[in-house]
Amino acid sequence: MLYVAALSLVLACGGVAYAAPGTSDESDVARLRARGLAVPVDGVRASDLVDTYQQARDGGMRAHEALDIAAPRGTPVLAVEDGRIAKLFSSRQGGLTIYQFDPASEFAYYYAHVDRYAPGLTEGAGVRRGQVIGYVGSTGNAAMDAPHLHFGVYRLGPERAWWRGSPLNPYLLWAPLFNRR
Ligand SMILES: [Zn+2]
Repeated sequence: MLYVAALSLVLACGGVAYAAPGTSDESDVARLRARGLAVPVDGVRASDLVDTYQQARDGGMRAHEALDIAAPRGTPVLAVEDGRIAKLFSSRQGGLTIYQFDPASEFAYYYAHVDRYAPGLTEGAGVRRGQVIGYVGSTGNAAMDAPHLHFGVYRLGPERAWWRGSPLNPYLLWAPLFNRR
């Protein structure tokens, strides 16, 4: 999907409120990978994804620490696994965002720049893998002409606070699916 590859170079993309630094923990990645998470943009395959985790943001002041998935505005955003909506939040960088916890509230999935939420989506609601939770857009600091989903994965701390966690590279959750033959 050349569209994804080309756009990923020019996306100005939204950060997250999380402050805690962290590195990808291999065992966390392996555990999540084993769950067979859905790719969070409808119609996008794992083999279409481009690793944008280490890209510089804010003029090199920080790393991106997330995965950008380019798609036409209005493309459905899908929950990557079962869980619940922990927070619906609007921020300057991320625009309209969704924080979903996994079933054990160990991990948070962060979906940003969404154009709008799925009708009826509320904080605390349970969601199922593949459920439409919103639509791709360019809210926050995303370029208007480059709608995309900014998707992050964070290991939550013991306080299970939606705004605090350690990032891991979402690209790694799907990469083996197309590297393996
Ligand atoms: Zn991004």
